[in-house]
Amino acid sequence: MDAGVLYVSIPYRTCGHLCCCGCGHEVVTPLSPAQWSITYDGENVSLAPSIGNWALPCRSHYWIHDGRVRWSRRYSAAEITQNRDRDRRLLDQNTAEHRPGPPTRLRRLLQWWRR
Ligand SMILES: [Zn+2]
Repeated sequence: MDAGVLYVSIPYRTCGHLCCCGCGHEVVTPLSPAQWSITYDGENVSLAPSIGNWALPCRSHYWIHDGRVRWSRRYSAAEITQNRDRDRRLLDQNTAEHRPGPPTRLRRLLQWWRR
């Protein structure tokens, strides 16, 4: 990957980029309702929520918004643990919701369609 480029794969539901601090580590952000999402306004891309590279030595934290990097403050160890726990819960919930059948929104659409 090249620095300063956000790579987006729709088939793999994933984005990738080199850490914006310049450390050169690859950062992979899976796209899902419980993880990250991208928006494209026809010119620039935004990725949300923020990217906290807690597992990297740099522990950088930033947003990619409107094609620019917006730096955010570093989190304390306690905040990182809190965030990880919350992210894990969200992911577990999301995975459980999606396992038995089509996603809720699709289910609603199917119900509407059947009327
Ligand atoms: Zn870094």
